[in-house]
Amino acid sequence: MDYGRPSPLDGQSYYRATATPYPALSPLDGEARADVAVIGAGLTGLSAALELTARGYSVVVVERGRLGDGGSGRNGGQICTGFAPGMSKLERLLGRRDAEICFAVAEEGKALIRQHIAAHKIGCDLAEGQIVCAPKPGHLDALARERDELESYGYHQTSLLDAAELHARVGTPLYHGGLLDRGGGHFHPLNYVIGLGRALLQAGGRIHEHSPVLSIEPGSRSVLRTTQGVLSADAVVVACDAYLGKLLPAIAPRIMPVASYVIATAPLAEALASSLIRDGEAVADANFVVDYFRLTRDRRMLFGGRCSYSGIDPSDLAANMRPRLARVFPQLSQVAIDYAWGGHIAITYNRLPDAGRIGKSLYYAQGYSGQGVVLSGIFGKMMAEAIAGETSRFDIFGRIPHAPFPGGPLARPALTLGMLYYRIRDLLA
Ligand SMILES: Cc1cc2nc3c(=O)[nH]c(=O)nc-3n(C[C@H](O)[C@H](O)[C@H](O)COP(=O)(O)OP(=O)(O)OC[C@H]3O[C@@H](n4cnc5c(N)ncnc54)[C@H](O)[C@@H]3O)c2cc1C
Repeated sequence: MDYGRPSPLDGQSYYRATATPYPALSPLDGEARADVAVIGAGLTGLSAALELTARGYSVVVVERGRLGDGGSGRNGGQICTGFAPGMSKLERLLGRRDAEICFAVAEEGKALIRQHIAAHKIGCDLAEGQIVCAPKPGHLDALARERDELESYGYHQTSLLDAAELHARVGTPLYHGGLLDRGGGHFHPLNYVIGLGRALLQAGGRIHEHSPVLSIEPGSRSVLRTTQGVLSADAVVVACDAYLGKLLPAIAPRIMPVASYVIATAPLAEALASSLIRDGEAVADANFVVDYFRLTRDRRMLFGGRCSYSGIDPSDLAANMRPRLARVFPQLSQVAIDYAWGGHIAITYNRLPDAGRIGKSLYYAQGYSGQGVVLSGIFGKMMAEAIAGETSRFDIFGRIPHAPFPGGPLARPALTLGMLYYRIRDLLA
């Protein structure tokens, strides 16, 4: 990623075009002090900041660009259950008892979204339900195993759909069935982020946009330098996820930023829209390289997928994504595409979140591997708890081992090969 260069991923997004207005947030200028400095105004950073402010800490958030400029304001908006690789991986790594705590954390992440929306009256088009579809017959067995696993964790909100049941709900013959999760959902992620930002300002927190942190000098009082200012704080929350770049080399190799593209069509006629997703849930497929789609409140089809692992993004994202949309919904092959954009998803090697502490005062959480809409908020909250001395559940996640990507995030050839493996696996599954 080169932040200086224009990128096709920064094309006009549906979310920016329909964003809730908010007051200008001036860059950090000169010297400032806070109990806690938060780097990054996405879901992780703002959630940590809100929780810290509620606990009486003074908090300053510094953001390179604007609120939600990272994955948080660009994503598919899908509210998912649990963790990307499933609970069995956590169970193998941490044992059943701690895996149960992790599952409860992820569920709390879902509840937190609804709490924030209600408490801060955030208008962000929240809708209920998510369906994961089976592109291959074998995926249906995997989805049945996932349902059983979730039930063993006390989660009873999923139902397996056979091909006929799925086709009645999702208007494409492409899938062999699916798993309906009534506890999932979707929303307008940027408006949710902006709502959190406004709530933070009302609670007395400070946010500075256009304030890239250039360096961190950790210490009993850490010092962050931005282009125009210097911020010192007792504790620092690093919430940069896929947009971390070279800021913190100790954790950078543990995540790989993978590009994903999103398009939004022109508004669809009511009958057409409901023939595509009858009950308006979020939909994703069960591939490793996931297609994800949903209807927006104004009945656009918002369709994402097609990761780039090579680091080279096509210049015309709309043209690139159209065949993928038409493969799922041939009915939409001629529809106008009004918006096309993209963003980077941070994945870890084991697709579990990477969270921990460096020294006594630097906290970080990253690498939600495609499930950050829910996990980012609760990981932000857990970092705030840890800063306040309540470390027990944050420390459980710190025990998850994370292998660095060979050569770090800049080693594109190794990543391209590695991800090609998963692409082929999707085709053969
Ligand atoms: C296209 C796309 C689709 C996705 N779809 C889904 C989905 O449907 N469901 C789901 O669960 N997850 C999805 N994700 C993942 C999800 O969006 C992320 O996991 C989540 O938003 C991470 O939140 P965050 O706050 O940790 O990081 P981000 O939202 O990326 O925020 C990091 C922030 O840090 C700032 N920053 C970085 N470096 C600096 C610096 N040096 N100084 C100051 N600021 C800095 C960045 O500008 C950015 O605003 C998707 C991601 C993308 C890109």
